[in-house]
Amino acid sequence: MLRYGGNTSCVEVRCGDRLLVFDSGTGIRNLGEQLVLCGSASLALFYTHMHLDHVMGLPFFAPLYLGTTQLDIYGQQTAHGGPREALVKLMTHPLFPVELEQCSARLQFFGLKPGQELDLGDGIKVITGLLNHPGDALGYRIEYRSRAVAHVTDTEHFADRLDQNVVALCKNVDVMTYDASYSNDEYCYKQGVGRKGWGHSTWEEAIRVAVAANAKKLVLFHHDFTHTDADLDSIRDGAMLAHNNVILAQEGMEIDVATGTYVVIPRSSVI
Ligand SMILES: [Zn+2]
Ligand SMILES: [Zn+2]
Repeated sequence: MLRYGGNTSCVEVRCGDRLLVFDSGTGIRNLGEQLVLCGSASLALFYTHMHLDHVMGLPFFAPLYLGTTQLDIYGQQTAHGGPREALVKLMTHPLFPVELEQCSARLQFFGLKPGQELDLGDGIKVITGLLNHPGDALGYRIEYRSRAVAHVTDTEHFADRLDQNVVALCKNVDVMTYDASYSNDEYCYKQGVGRKGWGHSTWEEAIRVAVAANAKKLVLFHHDFTHTDADLDSIRDGAMLAHNNVILAQEGMEIDVATGTYVVIPRSSVI
């Protein structure tokens, strides 16, 4: 975890000066520190789903406690409620000493449905698609100025077909991130306990989807927490043999959507 990182899911998408954030895993704490330095923050926070690894960073997101922050929170409206209900549960005694209602940031909540298209203004379009994950999850496609990216996590592929919801989200995108928690061997019970039905996919499936959808650049995402840097290096080597434009997500990685080039910003230089 020294090179690839150990925080849970949090991805930032910048469209001009608009900031979209996908999930508030523990990675959002670092983002909060940067935003506080900027003085004020206005952002749209989209949840793929409300599992703990995707929400648990929010109580440690410093802008949540500033009255200058405007936080628009989007997530799927399910039988269990929307993002607001889940976050109220997260930030409640005895799990956390500050309740969501006590935070100074101005919060607005929006419930989403799969297949919905949102116009965020300034030419930003966000499209949702249903993923195959316990309790459901949403994948997102973001379009801005003739560019498109797709963020697809967490999801499990089907044995007999490509998931057409996922292919549609990723169609012709410049960059797609995809849940590549496992290798096919791990998924198929060839190494110890199998992982079918756990709601996650493989790097081999990521490549099949990327090719079918004609995605330009594939970013393998949501690394399994038991994988070491060395394990991820070997996944990278295998994936690069099978696809000519694939990288592994890495903490601090910034991708230029227009060119596909990327840099990895060391944490010490962003604080
Ligand atoms: Zn999940
Ligand atoms: Zn997850």
